[in-house]
Amino acid sequence: MSDPTQRPLHDLGVADVLRGLQARAFSSAELVDHLLARVADARELGAFLHVDADGARQAARAADAARAAGRAGALAGVPLAHKDIFVTRGHPSTAGSKMLAGYASPFDATVVARLAEAGAVSLGKLNCDEFAMGSANENSAFGPVRNPWDTARVPGGSSGGSAAAVAAGLVPAATGTDTGGSIRQPAGFTGITGIKPTYGVCSRYGMIAFASSLDQAGPMARSAEDCALLLSAMSGFDERDATSAQRPPQDYAAAMRQPRDGATAAQPLKGLRIGLPREFFPAALAADVEGRVREALGQMEALGATLVDVSLPRTELSIPVYYIIAPAEASSNLSRFDGVRYGHRAAQHGDLQDMYRRSRSEGFGPEVKRRIMIGTYVLSHGYYDAYYLQAQKLRRMIADDFQACFQQCDLIAGPVAPSVAWKLGEQGEDPIQAYLADIFTLPASLAGLPGMSVPAGFGAQGMPVGLQLIGNYFAEGQLLHAAHAFQQATDFHTRRPQ
Ligand code: GLN
Repeated sequence: MSDPTQRPLHDLGVADVLRGLQARAFSSAELVDHLLARVADARELGAFLHVDADGARQAARAADAARAAGRAGALAGVPLAHKDIFVTRGHPSTAGSKMLAGYASPFDATVVARLAEAGAVSLGKLNCDEFAMGSANENSAFGPVRNPWDTARVPGGSSGGSAAAVAAGLVPAATGTDTGGSIRQPAGFTGITGIKPTYGVCSRYGMIAFASSLDQAGPMARSAEDCALLLSAMSGFDERDATSAQRPPQDYAAAMRQPRDGATAAQPLKGLRIGLPREFFPAALAADVEGRVREALGQMEALGATLVDVSLPRTELSIPVYYIIAPAEASSNLSRFDGVRYGHRAAQHGDLQDMYRRSRSEGFGPEVKRRIMIGTYVLSHGYYDAYYLQAQKLRRMIADDFQACFQQCDLIAGPVAPSVAWKLGEQGEDPIQAYLADIFTLPASLAGLPGMSVPAGFGAQGMPVGLQLIGNYFAEGQLLHAAHAFQQATDFHTRRPQ
């Protein structure tokens, strides 16, 4: 346990901040001022789309007062920021799109409201790919986000602003969403820890929809412990989301600490079987990524885990399956942006059809338009059976493949992405390159399984490498436990960019 008074305030994680606040080493108001100054200095990263300095200062003072009065919530005074895909009352909520520029939601997303109820202090809204479509945060209408480890490189996406803000020490934690990897991949690219819970664990109410059967919220932070603290506050049943899982509230920090049967201090992972799908280690995997991932797995073995070979034979098919299902759902979800009920309306237009056409042409960016067109195509009469229906059948088989694996192992491990973060603009105009790089995160998304990204060291050019851990349904506690044990034995998660 590190002494929170001995380190710069912006290096502290959520648990450190809570310890420091409890010990009166600093106040939330001081911490928030310190971070707001850093946010102002780090504008070139492009991480924030909206900073709510007044609201943050006010909430910090309220949290300090609540703590002084002995009625502090679980996250009282902890600063964070929200991916701008969550709607927030009274502040801009854009989903990274011109379509929603100037939109102010009349309500808070459930995840936002629950974190605020726990006492967390929001500094503002974080940049993301437009409607969360992307893997590099280059698809935001408000400009790209830069990776704090090398500002010529992307931070990953679509939760790139969240990842960059946490990695750069602008906030100790942030919210993200993951439809096909958008928590895990940017966490991996920036050396932070992120968890995408089982589909249904966090409410989608107030999360601007991309692909509703896949979208899931989760925390992005500096450690498994910090993720557990956030997830406990932000998760839980919500009657306003029809796909919300009906489960009692969970204490993920307690689950993370729960020792395994037969474990010892030196071997906290004793008896844990970690499956390595052979398809997650293809010949095309970058050598630096494979090296760090294998070393991390060796460390897990030293901590008592056993490694077993398993197979997820439809891993490659998860790319076409996802890039049919996600655009299909997106084309339906985004039909609501017509210039009437929400969003941008073209200034010049003729009749109603012309107004729709011009408003949508002006409001949406190229990747969003591409997906709307693909989605509309695969759902259209004559193609539905050939594409959408086939993709749905394969999705079921991919989920079944995981269940076959979980007969042989407790967790599944592999890389988060096939390479470290690439350079801005490097992929040019070819969207397929980015789609292919989603190969290791898409399977768990399609199956609705929980997945984590855990810092596993550094590859080419000193860029972070992420280890992915995938659990069975509702095994978040087990995932966090394994990640925490790894982080107790390693210090990759404590390294910060210059
Ligand atoms: N990269 C994937 C996509 O572009 C996943 C994005 C996400 O998880 N939101 O759709």
